[in-house]
Amino acid sequence: MIPPAGTDADEAMAYDLPRGSCPACGVGEVRHLVIGLPGDPDAVTNSPAWVEWVGCMHPGHDRECERCGLTWISEDPESDGSPS
Ligand SMILES: [Zn+2]
Repeated sequence: MIPPAGTDADEAMAYDLPRGSCPACGVGEVRHLVIGLPGDPDAVTNSPAWVEWVGCMHPGHDRECERCGLTWISEDPESDGSPS
């Protein structure tokens, strides 16, 4: 059992999702497009170079392979992808 992380008080933290690998070519050169802005600007500063904060410009996918150019949508249970 995993309790829901209901931290609505302070979400300031470094980006710590695993980078993963491309489902097509299998390399780990994956870019994460993070939809929406982080609650804390420090999260942008602390995030890895392969994380791109796309804000409200929803590109229709949130993963991109730097090797083969594949784009896909991650199924991350932690992100409720509501753009609102
Ligand atoms: Zn690839």
